[in-house]
Amino acid sequence: MRGLTKVFDETVTAVNDVSFGIEKGSFFTLLGPSGSGKSTILRMIGGLEKPTKGRVFIGGREVTELPPYERDTSMVFQSLALFPHLNVAGNIGFGLRMRKWPKDQITKRVNEALDLVELPHRKYGGRKITQLSGGERQRVALARALVTEPRVLLLDEPFGALDLKLRKQMQVETKKLQRRLGLTFIFVTHDQEEALTMSNAIGVINKGSVEQMGDSKEIYEHPATKFVAGFIGEANILRGVVQTVADAEAIVTYETKEKGLLQFRVPGDSLVAGQSVVVSVRPEKIRIGADADNCANHFEGTVVDEVYIGLASRLTIQLDQGGRIVANVQITNIGDSVPIGTRVRVGWDPANSTVVRA
Ligand code: ADP
Ligand code: MG
Repeated sequence: MRGLTKVFDETVTAVNDVSFGIEKGSFFTLLGPSGSGKSTILRMIGGLEKPTKGRVFIGGREVTELPPYERDTSMVFQSLALFPHLNVAGNIGFGLRMRKWPKDQITKRVNEALDLVELPHRKYGGRKITQLSGGERQRVALARALVTEPRVLLLDEPFGALDLKLRKQMQVETKKLQRRLGLTFIFVTHDQEEALTMSNAIGVINKGSVEQMGDSKEIYEHPATKFVAGFIGEANILRGVVQTVADAEAIVTYETKEKGLLQFRVPGDSLVAGQSVVVSVRPEKIRIGADADNCANHFEGTVVDEVYIGLASRLTIQLDQGGRIVANVQITNIGDSVPIGTRVRVGWDPANSTVVRA
């Protein structure tokens, strides 16, 4: 994508000067909140939407002016858009019939596609769409998109309508399928967990622009912007002013509303004194109790909220100096519960924090 822009009705800039590349054979995800422009980007790649400006290339060939069926792409829609009047085989073979394939070839390909998504063709080929479960419909939509052997498969929030358990199962199977076929998948979702677990690379989209490109680990552990830090999982966002920098570490202070000065260390390779910074620390990187004493940043505070999240407990701690820190703590490390009002020591390693904006 080079300088891709889409303006609707001459006023709504849905996508604003977006440029990026996707490696062949990778599972790439566009991740962002609703209305950020993900679908519009995907539709421009697939030729379903004409860019206002910019160019699209697939495998080195410019496709900006080509219709969808000449692009080697195929799309799985959020709504699935299966044809209710056709049976399963009819749906999957549709694209091949449009291309005037001979009948016996279509049957062969449809059967292969059904087997590929683990719906035995003997059992499912003749079924009506209304006789399928949500997960089975999902597989038919995938098979229909794959049957034309595209080079790039575009998937627009395909699991949005499934319940959690089924969604997880489809995530695993779709990822498996992508690996096995070695195709390039471009996947759109607003679900950060889905993006982090499935993707080789992620582009985080906000208000029609790319905020950050990277793999799951980079984006989660080193968010480039405050938006990314807040959107990808939870983060403690601290701000302050750099006081001193020494040995690749900076001391930052923040005047809290409540009680005065909060002072903490951050990785400071490129910081200078006097600079304002925003710092992100993930809740699971926060230590409490004796573990906190070993951290270069440590404070005392009082638990003001406690929520169970699976095997961990999420504590909100009001620091004595002012400011609040959210910590995810393994239950086994802290006993059964840390009730509201408990006094705790809380800390984190500077290396586990990221300066997201200097
Ligand atoms: P996402 O897929 O991230 O939820 P979209 O790409 O669907 O976001 O939409 C991005 C923005 O463009 C939104 O503000 C949306 O209202 C607007 N938009 C999308 N399609 C159209 C359209 N056909 N006409 C006018 N505005 C549109
Ligand atoms: Mg969308």
